Amino acid sequence: MSGSFDYMTEQEARKAICEIGKRLYSKNFVAANDGNLSIRTGEDEIICTPTGVSKGFMSENMMVKIRMNGDVIEGSLKPSSEIKMHLRIYKENKQIGGVVHAHPPIATAFAVAGMELQPNLLPEAAIMLGTVKVAQYATPGTEEVPEVIAPYVKSNKAVLMANHGALTWDSDIFEAYYRMESLEHYAKISMYAKHVIGHINPLTDLEISKLIKNAEDRRKL
Ligand SMILES: [Zn+2]
Repeated sequence: MSGSFDYMTEQEARKAICEIGKRLYSKNFVAANDGNLSIRTGEDEIICTPTGVSKGFMSENMMVKIRMNGDVIEGSLKPSSEIKMHLRIYKENKQIGGVVHAHPPIATAFAVAGMELQPNLLPEAAIMLGTVKVAQYATPGTEEVPEVIAPYVKSNKAVLMANHGALTWDSDIFEAYYRMESLEHYAKISMYAKHVIGHINPLTDLEISKLIKNAEDRRKL
């Protein structure tokens, strides 16, 4: 994620959001009209999901095109009520191209419990997720939400939102979506191991740092 940013075209973005919306809905990561998605398609242009629609049944012409200040450029529906949180993520980190917000049940249960996910149970979690912290509770749809998530945008790959849900981001929306899948999968395994079986053998700090170094070396090749 360096150098000039490679934005998706508007058409690609509309298609990608519909596709990911279907996957979120079919995996039960959202219920009814929950969740929201956005893609940055230019310096001052975002394509986002409209408010009040099921993410499983969206069409490309339902998307809303907005500016970084939240003004609507195009679209007959209103943008997501959580759009301020998406805009803040793009402002905090210029290398972010897509944001996914959902309520996957097990990750959200950890968010309700106020318990962060430590990445020391599986190698994939150490690489894909890192520590997933819990941002403090904020009233959905208000200015409080971007404030509480902002501190995590540069230092973390995902965050749990207390008593609410989960949020992932990346340079590419599909990577952000896969991270949401990994997050829920890892939350499920963590729950089974820690709270159903009641026993874990965590990886050591040395094992974790070897994994991270290995992944960085591969990226340089
Ligand atoms: Zn939500």
